[in-house]
Amino acid sequence: MELIDIHAHLDMMEDSPEVTLEKAKEVGVRKIITIGTEPSDHQFVLDVAKRLYPDVYCTLGVHPHHGVQWAEEIGKFIEAHLHEPYVVAVGEFGLDYYYNQSSKEDQIRSFRAQMDIAARHQMPVEIHTRDAEDDTIEVLKDYKGKVKGVIHCFTGSETLARACLDLGYNISFSGVVTFKNADSLRKICEFVPLDRMHVETDAPFLSPVPVRGKKNVPAHVVHTAQFIAQLKGISVDDLAQKTNENARQMFSKIIW
Ligand SMILES: [Zn+2]
Ligand SMILES: [Zn+2]
Repeated sequence: MELIDIHAHLDMMEDSPEVTLEKAKEVGVRKIITIGTEPSDHQFVLDVAKRLYPDVYCTLGVHPHHGVQWAEEIGKFIEAHLHEPYVVAVGEFGLDYYYNQSSKEDQIRSFRAQMDIAARHQMPVEIHTRDAEDDTIEVLKDYKGKVKGVIHCFTGSETLARACLDLGYNISFSGVVTFKNADSLRKICEFVPLDRMHVETDAPFLSPVPVRGKKNVPAHVVHTAQFIAQLKGISVDDLAQKTNENARQMFSKIIW
């Protein structure tokens, strides 16, 4: 089995990116996308991806928590690096009204600015959305047909899932799908087609069962894949093959 973790934060691990990758490879997790979330981590993710390419890739973006920081220079910095072979998407960005660390206005402004960049450069996006379903759908609709991407760590409603699928977005599942109280998410996972889903860790957050409570690492994406395979009634090898194929199509720069 070979897996890719399409969403991890290697800058927040206890181990170095090298050691984290080595431990991931030991259990079959061959590729990792490390996520940019704010200007202060962009150089880190660029350096790591450059160093560990073609096993590690990165994205560049400003998380909704940091929406208040959005400025034209940040957009210019992101655009200046999108041509690198190891930069595979714009993100993560989107809306988070659960924490509301930036105002709604700042979040929407930075969300739209990054959608513009993705559209201009024909790059896929990794979108973060929490407790902001109507506004998320509204923005995505404005870019229908111009931007493709993934709703990362999906934890929303069935309505949001169906709307995102209709708009052409894939759904990425994290360890949350394994949690005891996640029945509604499991129902969503059951109907998302196998050719429209991804698996991720969002490490160091949200460790899946049976390692819940421990710090999450990319190697743990194996547990989420095993869980979803069982839910879908297929072998984990088949699930891995499907999700790799989806990642290959979505993040076309990745070398397999
Ligand atoms: Zn996120
Ligand atoms: Zn994240």
